[in-house]
Amino acid sequence: MSRLRFEVITAAFGKKAIEVPLLKERPSDYYGVNVFNREKMFKYLPGDVYAKLVDVIDNGAPMDQSIAGSVAEGMKRWAIENGATHYTHWFHPLTETTAEKHDAFIEHNGKGGVIEEFKGNLLMQQEPDASSFPNGGIRSTFEARGYSAWDPTSPAFLMDDTLCVPTVFISYTGEALDYKAPLLKALRAVDKAATDVCHYFDKNVKKVTTYLGWEQEYFLVDEGMLLARPDLLLTGRTLMGHDSAKNQQLEDHYFGSIPERVAAFMKDLEIESLKLGIPAKTCHNEAAPNQFELAPIYEECNLAVDHNMLIMAIMKNVARRHGFRVLLHEKPFKGVNGSGKHNNWSLGTDNGTLLMAPGKSDKENLRFITFVVNTLAAIYRHNGLLKASIMSAANSHRLGAAEAPPAIISSFLGSHLSSVLDHLETTDDVVKILSKRELHLNIPQIPELMIDNTDRNRTSPFAFTGNRFEFRAVGSEANCASAMIALNTAMAEQLVLFKQEVDALIETGVAKEDALVSVIRKYIKYSKPIRFDGNGYSDEWRKEAQERGLDCEASAPLVFDRYLDSASIDMFGKMDVMTETELRARNEIKWEMYTKKVQIEARVLGDLALNHIVPTATKYQSMLLDNIIKMEQVLGKEEGDNASKENIDTVKIIANSVAEIRRMVAEMVERRKVANRIAEEREKAIAYHDKVAPMLESIRTHIDNLELIVDNELWTLPKYRELLFIV
Ligand code: ADP
Ligand code: MG
Repeated sequence: MSRLRFEVITAAFGKKAIEVPLLKERPSDYYGVNVFNREKMFKYLPGDVYAKLVDVIDNGAPMDQSIAGSVAEGMKRWAIENGATHYTHWFHPLTETTAEKHDAFIEHNGKGGVIEEFKGNLLMQQEPDASSFPNGGIRSTFEARGYSAWDPTSPAFLMDDTLCVPTVFISYTGEALDYKAPLLKALRAVDKAATDVCHYFDKNVKKVTTYLGWEQEYFLVDEGMLLARPDLLLTGRTLMGHDSAKNQQLEDHYFGSIPERVAAFMKDLEIESLKLGIPAKTCHNEAAPNQFELAPIYEECNLAVDHNMLIMAIMKNVARRHGFRVLLHEKPFKGVNGSGKHNNWSLGTDNGTLLMAPGKSDKENLRFITFVVNTLAAIYRHNGLLKASIMSAANSHRLGAAEAPPAIISSFLGSHLSSVLDHLETTDDVVKILSKRELHLNIPQIPELMIDNTDRNRTSPFAFTGNRFEFRAVGSEANCASAMIALNTAMAEQLVLFKQEVDALIETGVAKEDALVSVIRKYIKYSKPIRFDGNGYSDEWRKEAQERGLDCEASAPLVFDRYLDSASIDMFGKMDVMTETELRARNEIKWEMYTKKVQIEARVLGDLALNHIVPTATKYQSMLLDNIIKMEQVLGKEEGDNASKENIDTVKIIANSVAEIRRMVAEMVERRKVANRIAEEREKAIAYHDKVAPMLESIRTHIDNLELIVDNELWTLPKYRELLFIV
């Protein structure tokens, strides 16, 4: 691939040469070159091994251990031919990033030299010395080490010189220490439950696949600017910074033309994604200045989650090549929109039907309504849990800030679908069975393609968008798996319940269609409180949601409690996704992570306040005082003081702010000390939320005021207007 070179002006490094691959080849020529996909499996594996592996991937057949050696050998051959020297088990620990430990392929050959080797056992299972990954006490209580085990359903790939093998990460006592293990279980649960329900409509369905299409929002900042902002560098967000005079008021960034330097970055990123088999499709500007979005075509959920984790890693590397840093934090800048990750979610059968898409016949539409209504019931029953699944210290800045969905889960259906459900709920003769084979549903016409019919409601956290639901409250930095585990498990539980009730009615002699409609109607009534098509940002909605009994808690440490509700423990247990031990351990980690995030922010802000802001403000104050004294000397006391009136006021304001900042930083340290003495992770996180986090805001207010009055030449930190507009 030839490359295009051009120069850009960066803030810190002046001119910087940028290289962008020139697209002579078509994407289809290099799509997936770095992936051990079907084509390569076919080429590098013996025929019988290939067939067995494909059976495992497509049909969930049990893994035949005896083929591991052959698969490993084939993978190794392909990897080495493509320049790999190392391999790693790639997994998703509970830190929101990925982990890998690189080992070289080499082994002693017994003759004083080495050979390249990668045995089946190394592919299947490894023991990363991972005692430093968060485990919520599982490993210290039970067993010291965890192991990673190959996930054959997500293909191995090459990153630079390393063969990466996607794996799950579990403790020796079997508890999941990662996101992938419970995700795979949740996907299996929903597959089973949805397939059973599909059989009411189509006996031939063998498998239901969960699809996920994520949209990733992010900010780009000039690398030089970022390096001059310790808060951005260390915490991922600005802990201070006054609004820029211009930010997103003009709404001129959204879908605006993409600056050349950014376009080059996007092109490069797109090519890297395609090479890794990530079907990147859409790139555009987002609402805030310097904010952008990338979305691939939707894929099977487990693969889509892996691809999202991969893209977050690649973005960081590609950005550096272009003199940028990418910010994935949910709220890097106060006063402009934060970043999220929309999770477009749907279910589809092995014979190609999307279950949440309206169909041509009445029967297909009854199936469509069945799945929509069960979704509503699932998210209503577990609305608090669903919120917990997307909650984090960082995402809590975004939720409820009139830019992202509020910290209340509700679902938007649009007027058309709403009227269909209302009709079903209130009309008695919905089902007319005309003959044995033909069914007539007395419901308003459902257009086959509703995608363009659904009005867009961007304030809804869980919106129906024509053939899928879009979960919009997921954080930009989060692992999508967290939301997908909760959502799919809730859906599986609901579908099981639904089937039990329909079957019970059929057993009493009720016709199948009548039984279906009757149970659907029950769940339309049941799930009504979750349906909301109005403005999710409004104060009235907050009030109304409370009255409807929806979970309105906004404090992250308390929201995490929803994982330990008896309804959640029961659901995860029954669906065989997570045990109570796992849930408890995971919550310990959530609380601990929350505390650490706020703790780091508090330390960074304290340091910056005392050794950047206070000295700078004082220096400017001295300049003013010097001027005041000189004015007196020249003009005499009375006239001089008169002329210096504003300066004297400014001196007083600075003195006051500096004193306040000093006092509050000291108080924040005290509050941290008190919180740090608390032994229970939950209580500690609550103390950090209630007592420490608010101090960050109060200190910031003073700093931001100083930023407005202190001489720009003295102010050492890049301001919002520089961070947000230089690209
Ligand atoms: P918008 O920004 O309007 O929401 P985009 O086109 O940016 O739309 O993103 C839509 C995302 O939804 C894409 O990733 C797309 O592949 C995905 N998507 C489309 N149909 C489905 C579906 N049936 N199931 C899951 N994801 C889907
Ligand atoms: Mg979207």
